Amino acid sequence: MLRSVFLAAAGSSRLERLVESAPVAKGIVRRFVAGSGLDDALRAARELADDGLGISLDYLGEDTLTAEQAQATREAYVALLGRLRGAGLTPAAEVSVKLSALGQLIDDKLAYDHAHAICAAAAEAGTTVTVDAESHQTTDSTLEIVANLRKDFPATGAVLQAHLRRTEGDCRELATAGSRVRLCKGAYAEPESVAFQSALDVDKSYVRCLNILMSGEGYPMVATHDPRLIAIAEDRARWFDRSADEYEFQMLYGIRPEEQARLAAGGHTVRVYVPYGDQWYGYLMRRLAERPANVAFFGRALASRK
Ligand SMILES: Cc1cc2nc3c(=O)[nH]c(=O)nc-3n(C[C@H](O)[C@H](O)[C@H](O)COP(=O)(O)OP(=O)(O)OC[C@H]3O[C@@H](n4cnc5c(N)ncnc54)[C@H](O)[C@@H]3O)c2cc1C
Repeated sequence: MLRSVFLAAAGSSRLERLVESAPVAKGIVRRFVAGSGLDDALRAARELADDGLGISLDYLGEDTLTAEQAQATREAYVALLGRLRGAGLTPAAEVSVKLSALGQLIDDKLAYDHAHAICAAAAEAGTTVTVDAESHQTTDSTLEIVANLRKDFPATGAVLQAHLRRTEGDCRELATAGSRVRLCKGAYAEPESVAFQSALDVDKSYVRCLNILMSGEGYPMVATHDPRLIAIAEDRARWFDRSADEYEFQMLYGIRPEEQARLAAGGHTVRVYVPYGDQWYGYLMRRLAERPANVAFFGRALASRK
């Protein structure tokens, strides 16, 4: 129930203005977002790299409706990749992009062209791009764009969401040599017709998908904070005899940092997804939707605003 309220709020521009203007918002955002500028992104990346963790930087923004904004997002990524390279942070740091921030809602071709330019900048910087998964209405278009990007940049990563009923089939298609696939549960509100609704069904789907990816020939990126799924992934990696450079764990910035450190200390490859930028509203609402404790934290901060 609370989850659907926050996911609905993620799409409300009226609420967005209200929350963004609340002085307390900054403190809450700081827990999940590295900061608003390039320097903040680089500082967070440096700290994580010094701790032996990989990084995927996400320049916040989504559902862009103007060509100018899509162009600005592309330029922000190209500038980011130049700075990462200059700071010696590649290949430890890669980038995650949302096609909707690159104009996918205006025109697929526009988003593809911008994503292609970002992949080219990443290749020049010695690193890679992973294309985030968004609402199910965009899944076909997104996977097609990733397939086209992979013709020129084979290391481009795809993201699959275990809550979608189609995802087992997508895993089968993508579990091929050289294919990087991030498996997550899925953060968007989706109808029953296309997505599993109960947490148990989503978890069961996650395990089926994980089995396909771990037994396949690609590079699975296990994106979850769920202790049970992490234990299952560790087990599958052992069962399928994968060494530490043949899969990785991924978690979000500010969530379960001790677990990130524990896995890395245990010899696993761990990458942290680091969002930065001013357009944090949709991202924050999805994080609040995921966990009641985060909502309590948000409520306490609002209550103590005087
Ligand atoms: C690296 C990465 C990239 C992602 N990319 C995408 C994407 O492209 N598209 C997409 O739809 N989704 C994406 N997600 C989000 C994902 O779909 C889930 O919504 C999110 O990871 C929460 O699910 P969970 O697997 O961690 O399990 P949950 O069942 O939500 O959580 C398990 C446990 O993890 C901890 N935890 C989980 N979430 C939080 C939180 N917000 N705050 C504090 N503790 C928490 C708690 O201990 C909780 O009990 C990504 C997630 C990660 C880690």
